[in-house]
Amino acid sequence: MGAIQVSVQFTAVLNQHGADRLRGGHPWVYDSDVLGWEPEPPPGTHTAPVIMRDRRGRELGLADFSPHSKIRLRRLSGNAGERAEREFFRQRLVQAIAYRRRVAPEAGACRLVSSEADGLPGLIVDQYGRAPGGAIVVQTLSWAMAARQAELIEDLETLLKPAVIAERNDTKVREREGLEQRSGLLRGSSPEVEAVINGLKWHIDLLAGQKTGGFLDQRENWAAAARWAQAFATGEALPALDVFTYQGGFALHLARAGARTEGVDSSRAALEAADGNAVRNGLNIDWIEANAFDLLRDYEAQQRRFGVVVLDPPAFAKSRTALAAAAAGYKEINLRALKLVRPGGVLVTCSCSHHLHESHFLELITAAAADARRMVTLLERRGQAPDHPVLLGAPETAYLKCLILAVH
Ligand code: SAH
Repeated sequence: MGAIQVSVQFTAVLNQHGADRLRGGHPWVYDSDVLGWEPEPPPGTHTAPVIMRDRRGRELGLADFSPHSKIRLRRLSGNAGERAEREFFRQRLVQAIAYRRRVAPEAGACRLVSSEADGLPGLIVDQYGRAPGGAIVVQTLSWAMAARQAELIEDLETLLKPAVIAERNDTKVREREGLEQRSGLLRGSSPEVEAVINGLKWHIDLLAGQKTGGFLDQRENWAAAARWAQAFATGEALPALDVFTYQGGFALHLARAGARTEGVDSSRAALEAADGNAVRNGLNIDWIEANAFDLLRDYEAQQRRFGVVVLDPPAFAKSRTALAAAAAGYKEINLRALKLVRPGGVLVTCSCSHHLHESHFLELITAAAADARRMVTLLERRGQAPDHPVLLGAPETAYLKCLILAVH
């Protein structure tokens, strides 16, 4: 990046909209809400955190500055007088780690730092295996976090003593910040690690998988789905179908609970990893490489029936404008899945698109149930695991919905 550190104190003056949003709890300021600067930061440089003020000169806090992104400022602190230097960020890391020890004390893998929700906007840290040892994967997704990455890594190393550190800065959001795509090992010799999650053994390739290797946000939902499958089991091995299985998250848990399980994904590489996980745990699962839309249609035509169906598609709605088309997609797969659930069975249906609010998602499922002529009751309404905290005031941080439904 070659950014030069500029040590002048810059102040951004925000319009009413920007100031109100911050006061309402949202940590972002868009470029369109910045009225002006005192002085103007030189283009393309890295600045220390900047002060935010409203038009009347009242201080609104301290923020990281992004020269390229539409999200121009990300609040670090409501106190403009704070010194947001290395020790400030180290303290935030300490707090984030302590929080995980409370909310996910037993987790063999968890998100240690979740960006805005930990007061560290633009920083993600996931841990696989427990410290000392284990592995951490780091993503710096904002201009300012990228500039302080080396310091953050050093502090994480001192705090956690991981055997392996990888960076997964190969994610699209970095493009909007003007940052390059990059991934690789920073410490240690192999990106392949083992973790025990919910008592199941997993093999994770930190550099090959989606996200930082796995979908840790679903960790508690995998276990919940298996609990409900058992509660609704009827003696003989329960047939279960996990659609969009990736590396087998739901499927492995259902199979361990005694279900005769099929896992479906369009990615062969994901299914190979899933199969490795099944073998590692002595579980027998049928993996099917298929387009989920086609498979659900075929199974419907074949009148296949399952005691449990899981749907966990990728985010169909990647933007607000894509929401209408996405809603149709969610409704279609849910309608088809509902038809495959035998009476007295369970549908576990997820959406990880933050543009689709839970109430809208529920409406879509309600409409699908009506079209399928099935009576459906809500067993559980779940979200992401608590190591992916929801920050009140920032609705984007509440992205994962997982509804567990009894289908009559
Ligand atoms: N259920 C998983 C996460 C799923 S991520 C877990 O809990 O860990 C979404 C998955 O959907 C990815 O593995 C991707 O390969 C798969 N996918 C995307 N589009 C698909 C399609 N049309 N048909 C089948 N799988 C698809």
